[in-house]
Amino acid sequence: MNDRRTELAANLAILQAQIADDCARAGRHPSEVTVIAVSKTWPSSDIRLLHELGVRDFGENRDQEAQRKAEELADLSLRWHFIGQLQTNKAKHVASYANMVHSVDRIELIRALQSAASPVQREIDCLLQVSLDPAAPAGRGGVQPIALAELAKELDAAAPLRLAGLMAVVPLGMPTRDAFRRLMEVRAGFLAEFPTARILSAGMSGDFAEAISAGATHLRIGSILLGNRPQVG
Ligand SMILES: *Cc1c(COP(=O)(O)O)cnc(C)c1O
Repeated sequence: MNDRRTELAANLAILQAQIADDCARAGRHPSEVTVIAVSKTWPSSDIRLLHELGVRDFGENRDQEAQRKAEELADLSLRWHFIGQLQTNKAKHVASYANMVHSVDRIELIRALQSAASPVQREIDCLLQVSLDPAAPAGRGGVQPIALAELAKELDAAAPLRLAGLMAVVPLGMPTRDAFRRLMEVRAGFLAEFPTARILSAGMSGDFAEAISAGATHLRIGSILLGNRPQVG
């Protein structure tokens, strides 16, 4: 346990130093960038250790696992980020503990989250996941940019949900630079219409430096912080 704490502390320190460098290079301030520790597959004890080290934002992609951890860690004040593909029948659970849902990509999901959040008046920050792959089949891994504004209007009108910004993942096989250049274009158009929805969730262990130059406000960091996950993650 002590060894694990030392390991996590070292990984976190290295990550924070890299983020500071990348921010300096991009002319940004590190306070503009939030690290979300992607704790999927890792035990609640790791989350406790990271909390002791100052991390408050945690990302999960499976409802059951996330809900269990949120219950086990209810004594801590954490922000839970749901970052995985979300089925409408799971949205009700997710709406009971998530502070931010990163993977909103269709109207049915907005309706399901809204009807779960409304009775308890939970204000959930929602990000629209944008597909950067023009060849991606509809309904998988994000909304196509052409359909973004329409979905954003629906979300904007779906209180107590809040239209908070955008999320994207670099598509497999696409060069990181091309993906983030595309994302910056899409976001510029989006912000012109929805200027207060400024969150940009982009950047993982392998590409967060590029994401910082592309304007990311939230990085989703798993393996370089917590270690390599077993294959299922
Ligand atoms: C697992 C996951 C991450 C973290 O990936 P790492 O490469 O381990 O940093 C980030 N975003 C999403 C959507 C994920 O599912």
